[in-house]
Amino acid sequence: MFKPLFIFAACLLVVNSFYAQKLEPKEIAKALCSEEFHGRGYVSKGDSLAAQLIAAQFAEYGVKPLKSKSYFQHYSFPVNSFPKAMSVMVGQQNLTPGRDFIVSPSSGSFKGQLKLETLDRGTLETPEALNKLLDRLHENEQNNVGILVNSKGITKDTLMLLNQLIEELNNYFPIIELYSDKFTWSISQKTNTFPHVYLRENLYSQGKVISLDIENKFIENYSSQNVIGYIPSKRWFCRKYVFLTAHYDHLGRMGEATYFPGANDNASGTAILFGLADRFLKKRSKYNVVFIAFSGEEVGLLGSRYYTDHPTVPLKKIKFLLNLDIMGSGEEGVTLVNGSVFKQEFDELVEINKENQLLTTVNARGKAANSDHYFFTERGVKSMFMYTMGPNKNYHDIDDQFEKLSFAEFEDLQKLIELFVRQL
Ligand SMILES: [Zn+2]
Repeated sequence: MFKPLFIFAACLLVVNSFYAQKLEPKEIAKALCSEEFHGRGYVSKGDSLAAQLIAAQFAEYGVKPLKSKSYFQHYSFPVNSFPKAMSVMVGQQNLTPGRDFIVSPSSGSFKGQLKLETLDRGTLETPEALNKLLDRLHENEQNNVGILVNSKGITKDTLMLLNQLIEELNNYFPIIELYSDKFTWSISQKTNTFPHVYLRENLYSQGKVISLDIENKFIENYSSQNVIGYIPSKRWFCRKYVFLTAHYDHLGRMGEATYFPGANDNASGTAILFGLADRFLKKRSKYNVVFIAFSGEEVGLLGSRYYTDHPTVPLKKIKFLLNLDIMGSGEEGVTLVNGSVFKQEFDELVEINKENQLLTTVNARGKAANSDHYFFTERGVKSMFMYTMGPNKNYHDIDDQFEKLSFAEFEDLQKLIELFVRQL
């Protein structure tokens, strides 16, 4: 009994050591990507540990809680998670999660060796073969039968049919789908009865035995929190607010041994909030500046949606909101979602960038529901979402690591955003 307790205490100590002192923005990003924070998801309270660190750093920096004694805004949601077993074996080869395979985020649990039935182009294009397969499956339900899906050569129309069929069959059988594209993981609020594994195509050859040991845990009411702080305006009785936001959550763990660090997405954006806080503490803005680190973004913009339903500042008092997500590169400039919607503000940003010779390019695009600005825009708040572009293409995979961030424009980005806010 002593050992686990000791390990738990040691973990707490490591996490606590992040809280006790002021960290530089990049150190905050590094800490958030470390294994102690479990990928800031839904295993081992990763997202809540990250929230604690962010609140502690707000306090260290001198960013105050907004209108209450707490930095936290709590809410909850259902989520599927993978805290424990995550093993796929092909023959005698034990595969590496995240590298050799990923599971569909809504996967259920299964343990055992599979008797494989194949579903491929040939089966789908021959009604007789498909009917025979479905009959066999019907007879063999609960007999450790798994379905091996090979979508090679299947046309777009048939692919839709295949995906519908897989979804239905996944209620009764584990699915092994051969996959050759880049693995991009996500989070689900639903769960299926059995796992759906995406397996690197070249790791399987016909006749090989596949064994699974995959365990999911569906959490009906996962308690999460946004972290909110602010720096008051230099003017007395200022009623206008500028919001600077970034989500701090990521995908968490896919089994006990594998976590997704989420460095570019979005430890980088969370960290840059602190660089900006430093600038607005040194020289106050004419507006109150609110900083929100949202949770639940990867589950479907849940934290920002909750905030717009339960705002702590009336939404009409928000002069402008700038959301920062994926701030770790910048070699190829930045893009602003809503840049073509809020043309005047976008043009100002471009002008500031040109005058100060900061970034190589500042691009505009239209409206998109792809980060935490979205529900604000929908409620009439002027907002844009800025993301950096560069050679780092790691996204929603186990390689989105702190070490791979170039931070090529980290200082220039801060300068650009600071000047933009001062000019609003
Ligand atoms: Zn993100």
